[in-house]
Amino acid sequence: MTTPAKPQSPAGRLSATPQADLPLRRHHRLAILLLCGLAACASPGPDPAGGFRYTPPSAPPAAPAPEGASGFTPKPGWEAQHFMVAAANPLATDAGYQVLKAGGSAVDAAIAVQMVLGLVEPQSSGIGGGAFLMHWDGKRVQAFDGRETAPAAATPELFLRDGKPLPFLEAVIGGRSVGTPGALRMLEMAHREHGRLPWKDLFAPAIRLAEEGFLISPRLATMLAAPEAKTLRNDPDMAAYFFNADGSPKAAGTRLKNPELAKVLRDIATRGSAAFYEGNIARDIVARVRKHPTNPGLLSEADLAGYAPKQREPLCTEYRVYRLCGMPPPSSGALAIAQMLAILEHTDIVKHPPVQADFGLEPSPQAAHLFSEAGRLAYADRNRYVADPDFVPLPGASPASLLNPAYIKGRASLIGERSMGVARPGTPAGATLALADDRSPELPSTSHISVVDAQGRAVAMTTTIENGFGAQIMVRGFLLNNQLTDFSFLPAENGTPIANRVQPNKRPRSSMAPTLVFMRNSGALSMSVGSPGGSAIINYVGKTLVGTLDWGLDAQQAISLPNFGSRNGPTELEQGRASTALVDGLKARGHDVRVIVQTSGLQAIQRSAPEGKVMWFGGADPRREGVVMGD
Ligand code: GLU
Repeated sequence: MTTPAKPQSPAGRLSATPQADLPLRRHHRLAILLLCGLAACASPGPDPAGGFRYTPPSAPPAAPAPEGASGFTPKPGWEAQHFMVAAANPLATDAGYQVLKAGGSAVDAAIAVQMVLGLVEPQSSGIGGGAFLMHWDGKRVQAFDGRETAPAAATPELFLRDGKPLPFLEAVIGGRSVGTPGALRMLEMAHREHGRLPWKDLFAPAIRLAEEGFLISPRLATMLAAPEAKTLRNDPDMAAYFFNADGSPKAAGTRLKNPELAKVLRDIATRGSAAFYEGNIARDIVARVRKHPTNPGLLSEADLAGYAPKQREPLCTEYRVYRLCGMPPPSSGALAIAQMLAILEHTDIVKHPPVQADFGLEPSPQAAHLFSEAGRLAYADRNRYVADPDFVPLPGASPASLLNPAYIKGRASLIGERSMGVARPGTPAGATLALADDRSPELPSTSHISVVDAQGRAVAMTTTIENGFGAQIMVRGFLLNNQLTDFSFLPAENGTPIANRVQPNKRPRSSMAPTLVFMRNSGALSMSVGSPGGSAIINYVGKTLVGTLDWGLDAQQAISLPNFGSRNGPTELEQGRASTALVDGLKARGHDVRVIVQTSGLQAIQRSAPEGKVMWFGGADPRREGVVMGD
């Protein structure tokens, strides 16, 4: 067992007390046990190579771990010297690990991970969805945009009936919400530039698992058994795949084979993404969307054939001694986080480290106050101004206006000792548009992958089919996204157009925030991080950044810290993980507090102290099934 190296303690601000209070055990056996408890694996054994290798599943799992509000399984954090991969399911993490071990690049690993995730965590992401990928090659940061697009035939009235917005679930289920999938072509684009192993090899782990079968994980089983999942049976392919003949959901530990997906993946492995975007598979996708029995959609073969991933200018900002790079619009993630951090730089949040509660660390009332207020201000601007910039430019036609130091200073000055309640959007230079509609509730889905390879290249990729199980349409073993419901259902308010309205070929606004953090002085990579969680992603990733960069927590501690913040509504605290002192402290500051389920799925990899032998420290969210592996 190696002695755990302390993660980097930026600017010497490690909050020694909270860290010492956390019983961190970062050794291999615990990692293996944890991994097996979570992912239905059996026959664990230490890796002869000394890494975090685990033995793939070969027997039924232990009892399912609880989900949702009570689904919190403490995790130790993991360390490795050369390379590391963090993903939301152990089988997927393992696929990435094998690729890295074979000399693959970070992008190679991300592709292998994505293909396995689409199989074993099908409710969250896959080739039927979209993704954003941030890449660091040691010199340059790139932002790859694989976001879905609206069909060419879509109109701003897509989600209206008799002039009124459709109820959320009515819009979600069926063909109407399906955007042109973008993840696969984006990955192919990234692989062309940064792949080291042959494209076809990266599909081998997923093909093998699809053919030989994998054991349904506790989380997938819980989602299948949830009341919200009853509509899944309406799709004949999903009914046959996820449910028993008597209609009951398949249980955790059931071996599931997906020969149809294996065939699709084989085809893509040999012929590239064209196998998916043109020909029989594309035809099947379009047929299922357009002929949906209750809610047909508009996707066409031309939409699929014409899908183009994009490289965008990464949104990089400086925060204290760091440089953060994330995905610019159409994601609102990086911009909102950059605004929040810039606003917080005007506060003394750094002097309010987490405090000890019964269950572990939690934010102090003052820190939660400052963070929530910064969130209110950032979400207000996000809702008004952010959309696909190819259709609706940001105020001033770049993120600079919303991040202008004088503008930010003005926004920060709105934070007082008591909550502002609801923030109004600001008026940055060049502002013109009306308020966009806010998001509706959703089944937690989406997935985040962080990778660093042996050459120091890094990936932060967040990937999604939007709501849990997407549009609830299964084609050839994979699920189609419902990403178009990320558009505003209302195209205009009082006659003024909403930035994030539906338009043909436009990308819906996202909150996904895959983030790479660098040291400002040396330029060295410091962290790769991201999370699912709908619009709360901004708060989840923001919390992890404040936890690590301001309070000196390690990635695992910061991820495990209770979720908190405001999306410019009430102040949200995490159910089961908020003390009375915190609730009362916020109420005393005038906050309307709601304690709710907040199922983040954070994954992060962080550079450890440069003088130590151990180089990377990884954390995975105790609220989901993620694990980290590396050597
Ligand atoms: N579709 C959402 C987005 O792109 C992510 C959904 C989720 O994380 O649950 O912002």
